[in-house]
Amino acid sequence: MSTIGFLGLGNMGRPMALNLLKAGHSVVGFDLSSAACKASAEAGLTVAASAAEAVYGAEIVITMLPAGKHVLDAYSGAMNLLGTAPKGALFIDCSTIDIASARAASAAAEKAGMLSVDAPVSGGVGGAAGATLTFMVGGADAAFAKAKPILEQMGKKIVHCGGAGTGQAAKICNNMILGISMIGVGEAFVLAKKLGLSEQALFDVASTSSGSCWSLNTYCPVPGPVPTSPANRDYAPGFAVDLMLKDLRLSQEASRASGAATPMGAAAAQLFELFAAQGHGGLDFSAIVTFLNGTPGKAP
Ligand code: NAD
Repeated sequence: MSTIGFLGLGNMGRPMALNLLKAGHSVVGFDLSSAACKASAEAGLTVAASAAEAVYGAEIVITMLPAGKHVLDAYSGAMNLLGTAPKGALFIDCSTIDIASARAASAAAEKAGMLSVDAPVSGGVGGAAGATLTFMVGGADAAFAKAKPILEQMGKKIVHCGGAGTGQAAKICNNMILGISMIGVGEAFVLAKKLGLSEQALFDVASTSSGSCWSLNTYCPVPGPVPTSPANRDYAPGFAVDLMLKDLRLSQEASRASGAATPMGAAAAQLFELFAAQGHGGLDFSAIVTFLNGTPGKAP
């Protein structure tokens, strides 16, 4: 069992840290928000008074933070955790962040004599609570080998994607597919309605034909055909528009930096941007169908 310092006890980090505690590790958490610290302590986690205290003596440091600047700030900026944790500790960053920051964090960790991986997740708050997350991991073989058994206690699928930053690359490529495919499925439902084709008929045909995809089959954006999809509960998330927009922006940033042509990804980012600007950033991302239908926020 390991001694783990866990930074970022928000919607995702708190249940993840609690799963590690349940698995028998010694876990000390920290968050800048006193509300997050209080909720974590009430759930049974030991919460430190500072980030430094949380990682002091830790063999493993896990971060689950909003963006690249927070991770760099924690690693080598104001919090300087790379200078606080014992030499040779393993740093696992589970946040979704830009690739440049992920690579900078990895380089800083190596320079400080630490092991590190970027290990963003898919599976949302439900996956974090149920320890069924998918982890996409970037980093050296030795760091991955040490991280894998820890990640297995928070998730069910752990994929080593390659060197530093490739976990983040896998995450933003996957979510670019998801954002684009949800818009495609939404457009098909809008067109079907104009043509007098019922939603159920379109679903029955397309879900078993070449239009079949996760956005249609599992997460159908209109109420009815898939009773468990967010469309049946007024688009309560799930995976919020704001988080999809964050990931689409990251993929566009990476496209520009690498020279990749991703015009559909650019269009998807713009559509989610407009929908969020109308005040719907908190809805599930499948609600984009309501924007396409001209009834923003209300099922077609
Ligand atoms: P959240 O806002 O609920 O939690 C983030 C927490 O980090 C906050 O409590 C904040 O106070 C804390 N924080 C910020 N800077 C800190 C620092 N320097 N030290 C300690 N704590 C600090 O966000 P979340 O939903 O838990 O998401 C966390 C990450 O996981 C994000 O990168 C997000 O993109 C990613 N993610 C989220 C989901 C989801 O469904 N929520 C799914 C997949 C990935």
